[in-house]
Amino acid sequence: EVVKISTAQMSRAKNSHDPEWINSAEYFVREKLCVWCRVAANGQWHLGKIHSTSSSDDVCVMLSANDDVVKVAMEEIFPANPEILEGVEDLTQLSYLNEPSLLYNLRVRYSQDLIYSKAGPVLIAVNPFKNVQIYGEEFLSAYQKNALDAPHVYAVADAAYDDMMREEKNQSIIISGESGAGKTETAKYAMQYLEALGGGSFGVENEILKTNCILEAFGNAKTSRNDNSSRFGKLMEIHFSAKGKICGAKLETFSLDQSRVAQLCNGERCYHIFYQLCAGASPILKERLKIKAASEYNYLNQSNCLTIDRTDDAQKFHKLMEAFNIVQIPQEYQERTFALLAAVLWLGNVSFEVIDNENHVEVVADEAVTNVAMLMGCNSKKLMVVLSTCKLQAGRDCIAKRLTLRQATDMRDSLAKIIYASLFNWLVEQINISLEVGNSRTGRSISILDIYGFESFKDNSFEQFCINYANERLQQHFNRHLFKLEQEEYEGDGIDWTKVEFIDNQECLNLIEKKPIGLVSLLNEESNFPKATDTTFANKLKQHLNANSCFKGERGRGFRIKHYAGEVLYNTNGFLEKNRDPLHVDLIQLLSLCKCQLLNLFSTKMHHDFLKPATFSDSMNQSVIAKFKGQLFKLMNKLEDTTPHFIRCIKPNSNQLPGLYEENHVLQQLRCCGVLEIVRISRSGYPTRLTHQELAVRYGCLLLDTRISQDPLSTSKAILKQCNLPPEMYQVGYTKIYLRTGVISVLEERKKYV
Ligand code: ATP
Ligand code: MG
Repeated sequence: EVVKISTAQMSRAKNSHDPEWINSAEYFVREKLCVWCRVAANGQWHLGKIHSTSSSDDVCVMLSANDDVVKVAMEEIFPANPEILEGVEDLTQLSYLNEPSLLYNLRVRYSQDLIYSKAGPVLIAVNPFKNVQIYGEEFLSAYQKNALDAPHVYAVADAAYDDMMREEKNQSIIISGESGAGKTETAKYAMQYLEALGGGSFGVENEILKTNCILEAFGNAKTSRNDNSSRFGKLMEIHFSAKGKICGAKLETFSLDQSRVAQLCNGERCYHIFYQLCAGASPILKERLKIKAASEYNYLNQSNCLTIDRTDDAQKFHKLMEAFNIVQIPQEYQERTFALLAAVLWLGNVSFEVIDNENHVEVVADEAVTNVAMLMGCNSKKLMVVLSTCKLQAGRDCIAKRLTLRQATDMRDSLAKIIYASLFNWLVEQINISLEVGNSRTGRSISILDIYGFESFKDNSFEQFCINYANERLQQHFNRHLFKLEQEEYEGDGIDWTKVEFIDNQECLNLIEKKPIGLVSLLNEESNFPKATDTTFANKLKQHLNANSCFKGERGRGFRIKHYAGEVLYNTNGFLEKNRDPLHVDLIQLLSLCKCQLLNLFSTKMHHDFLKPATFSDSMNQSVIAKFKGQLFKLMNKLEDTTPHFIRCIKPNSNQLPGLYEENHVLQQLRCCGVLEIVRISRSGYPTRLTHQELAVRYGCLLLDTRISQDPLSTSKAILKQCNLPPEMYQVGYTKIYLRTGVISVLEERKKYV
């Protein structure tokens, strides 16, 4: 529980060393200590001093900013930390670990461009949205030589490398945060550090960073929240030799958002590569592949957003071609890749004409469809048939049925998405081929995970469910690791561990994963049932899951899940359809008939995936959520085998602007990424830890009898004894002194009177 100032505490004994008394309002009044209070008028936290405690529920606080006296409810008041702790590097060093204090501490650091802080073992990175001079040669070598130890992503990478070399154990750096928080940039700095440290022998190290250029061109897009938003998850596993040199790498990607290829929200863009191709292709290439300006294509012009401020798409295209060469994608395949991108663009311009009063259509035989056929290497008549009909099995015969306008449009968009997603996966394979050099694997790798953080919007659907499910799993991993670390530190230092409570999210994971009656199982069951609708699905959830305390049925098609990061309201609208992932046999067949090796390859691969015998007994193995779960389990298994290092990225404002720190937005994220959990753990134990040396130096002046100044341990003990601190307020470990919340303030106060 938060150390709050309550009037109940005030009436207790006023022993000047009673922990309740030193955290009481009266004590704060007498000692003129500062507090944080939330002022009703604007909901912001203000610093002030308690003026009087007249009524039982309210207190009057004099604000430091303007000396105004305001009345504040008791539960809106928290103790502020002494000045000596202002802007500390590690949040858990704070004596009072309440929300306003955490927010203030991060704000103080942010305003000085100290974008990195720590919360115990976790690195917090607050996105500066501007260039901060803390990267590059000088800093790389300073961290390598351990000449600098301020919190930094370089320090995290360095620790991972050291642990790996020392223990011969695989490491992972797990980066999370909301869209635009800086995950991808942070991952790049971590790679940069490892490249600098482990480069020089095999030559692959230069390639690893360069692959980002390809991945970002094909997997990133401008969204309303981030001009360069990754629309896929990514794990980069870097392998090291016994001497600690980089000898290869392996890239794994998760669930690329395909819908973006055909459909865009206003103000957003499709994948960068399309605009780069239109802007940067040479005139000869443009001519050969029938490439026009981006504004000519329906898939690109539908959102009224073709360019990004301060971004030169043509220049990026040239960078991309360089990267293609570095990864050794042959010239011929580069051009095939561009041809398929052009085919996707032209597909969006294919139009249909309604030919009867049942809304059946046929493809308009224009430049668009001719270009698509030419670029894909297929017959345009054949293409027109596939796009406007579907084959039905009628007894032994196969008959072609005309599609309606809606169905034909879906078919066309599906083809575009299939081609694009296959191309993306193929590129990842090519990158992997080029990064695979050495094969000394076990025990010496560092994996960097850049994955979307927890999401909670006004309207949450299947996509948010998948993302939050993954985060719930990652959170469990995080909790377990963190508690283990805490436990190890306590026990290693000879401290009693039993006082700390374990926080778990197993109940929520049960809700989602339990068989046969968990959310995933029920979803698959309903998706396989032709008559099921989103409403029957919602009812089924309510019928079976109400017993789980993390579930709450809502009226209509909604339901709520109590995630570790907060409650989310989901709408079952579209859940079944999105989970079904229809397989378009006709489209796969079309690809196999094209005169294009890449398309043939894609077709074989899809065919293979489809025919592959199910590895699990349930026949719903093909559903989207089943695949997602399979991938997630594989990922978690891999991570379980590593020593994790956590980085939480925080987005300080939603305008992508430098210097703007929106407290509520930050607080929300601290909750979502588990920083408040860490703080909660610390709070339940002994948050302040000082080495004997530190305590002796800082508070030695409190000793009346200076003759006792012997070794740091004895000095520390003497200080604590002299202050008459009750025994439950501290523990003495082998290397450190562990102090309860608030004790530092007491010591600081005493120092004032020396
Ligand atoms: P998404 O989930 O949408 O992919 P993300 O968390 O990966 O988001 P980034 O693309 O890494 O976010 O960062 C968004 C933008 O923030 C960057 O394009 C860059 O302008 C800025 N940014 C992030 N980190 C830093 C940094 N360390 N220094 C300077 N600018 C940064
Ligand atoms: Mg990203």
